[in-house]
Amino acid sequence: MRETSKPIVEKVTIIGAGPGGLATAIALRKQGIDAHVYEKARDFRPVGAGVGLQVNGLKCLDAIKPGMAFTLKRSGCQVQRVTLKTSAGETIRTTETTMMAKYGQPLLTIWWWRLQQILASELPPEVIHLNHRCIGFEQNENNVVTHFDNGKTAQADLLIGADGVNSRVREILIGDGEPRYVGSMSWRAVIARQDELLPPDEVILMKGEKSIVYLLNVGEGNMSWLARKLLPDSSLSSSASDAKSRVLQEFANWMEPIRELMEATDAERILEGPICDRLPLKQWSYGRVTLLGDAAHPMAPSAGQGANTTFEDAYELAECLRNFPDRQTALANYDNRRIQRTAIIQTRSAEGEKRYYQPTQPTQQTNQQSQQNFEDFRDWVYDYQPNSESRLKPWKEKVVI
Ligand SMILES: Cc1cc2nc3c(=O)[nH]c(=O)nc-3n(C[C@H](O)[C@H](O)[C@H](O)COP(=O)(O)OP(=O)(O)OC[C@H]3O[C@@H](n4cnc5c(N)ncnc54)[C@H](O)[C@@H]3O)c2cc1C
Repeated sequence: MRETSKPIVEKVTIIGAGPGGLATAIALRKQGIDAHVYEKARDFRPVGAGVGLQVNGLKCLDAIKPGMAFTLKRSGCQVQRVTLKTSAGETIRTTETTMMAKYGQPLLTIWWWRLQQILASELPPEVIHLNHRCIGFEQNENNVVTHFDNGKTAQADLLIGADGVNSRVREILIGDGEPRYVGSMSWRAVIARQDELLPPDEVILMKGEKSIVYLLNVGEGNMSWLARKLLPDSSLSSSASDAKSRVLQEFANWMEPIRELMEATDAERILEGPICDRLPLKQWSYGRVTLLGDAAHPMAPSAGQGANTTFEDAYELAECLRNFPDRQTALANYDNRRIQRTAIIQTRSAEGEKRYYQPTQPTQQTNQQSQQNFEDFRDWVYDYQPNSESRLKPWKEKVVI
C-alpha cells in the first residue's frame, strides 16, 4: 500500500467520452491526476437509446462522485415493475422490482445521452477534447504518446482505451480482430412521448417470433424502444431511412402501437447495429496502456450489465492507482480484480442472449437448482459494494480463458 499522497501517474490520456471514459476521468481527477478525455465525435449530440442502470453500477458511480446516483435518478426513471407481454400486446405477467428493497438502489432507466451529459458536466470542459479520433499510440519506458486523426498528439504516463466495442486501442494492443456477432440485430431510439402504451415507472418486455421489444421510460417525458431480432444477416442498412424501413418490415406482424411508435420516430434517431461481444481476454494492461468498459469486455445486453460493469472498472482502476505503490503493480491488480468477474458476466450474458428468444410460458417452469443458481448469480453481481473487501469475492465457478 502507498505511503505518500503523490499520484503514481500524473497525466492520463483516456480515449472515448462514453460512460466509461467520463466516469474514469472524474475518479482520477478527484485524486489530483491530470486526466484528459479524447472523443472522436464532433459534438455531444442527442444519440443513443435507453439504458438500465443497476445497483452495482449506481453504487460505483456514487463512490466515484457522491450524490451522482441522486442526480441520475432526477433525470431518469426509477422502475417499479416489469411487464412481460406477447407481440400482440397480451400481458403474460407483471413483476414488482425488488432491487431497491433488497440491494438499496433501484433499477434506473435513463437516456444514454443524458447519462453522458451528466457525467461530462462533472468535468472541466477543457479536459474533454472532441473531434479527436485516436489512430495510434506508441509507448516507451518514460511515457505513452497517442496520435489523433487531426494530426495532434497527447503525451501521458498512462493511456486508457475506453473506446467501445470496436476499440482502436484494443486493436493495436491486442489485435484480436472483429467483435463476434451473437446472432441478433438491434434497432433503438428515444422519442418524446408518454402515453398509455407504457405506464409510468414500468418497463415492458414484449416477445414475438425470434424477436423482442423493450419499452423504457427514460425520464423527462421521453420513451425508448429497443427492438431486437434473431437474424443471420448482420449487415447495416445503407441509410437512416433504409434502417427505418427495415425495422418496420422485420416487425410487420407486431401489434399496431409498436409499429406506430417506430413509424413516428425520426429515421435519423434510429440506431441500428449488430449485437456483438468478444471472448474474454487473459490480460488488459501492457506497459503504460490498459483497457476499460466495452473495449475490454463487450458483452451481449441480456443481463443489462455492459455500462454497469464499466462503472465498476472505473472505480476499481482509480482505487488501484490510488492504493498501490507503482503503476505496474496497480495495473496488475486492476487486471486481477476485473478480468475473472467480467469474464463470467460476459459468458452468462452470451448464454442469456440465446434464451431471450425462447417462448415464455405464463407460469415459467424452471427447475429449482437453476432458479437458485440464477438468484445466487444475481446476488453476486448486485452485491458489489465499493469500499468493502467483499466486492472482490470470486464467483463460485471460474471461467477458463
Ligand atoms: C441493444 C443494447 C442495449 C444495452 N442496454 C444496456 C443496459 O440496459 N444496461 C447496461 O449497463 N448496458 C447496456 N448496454 C451496453 C452499454 O451501452 C455499454 O456497455 C456502455 O455504453 C459501454 O460504455 P463504454 O464507455 O465502455 O463504451 P461506449 O459507450 O461505446 O463509448 C465509447 C466512446 O468512445 C468513442 N470512440 C470510439 N472510438 C474512438 C476513437 N478511435 N477515438 C476517440 N473516441 C472513440 C465513441 O464515440 C464513444 O463515445 C446495451 C448495449 C446494447 C447494444
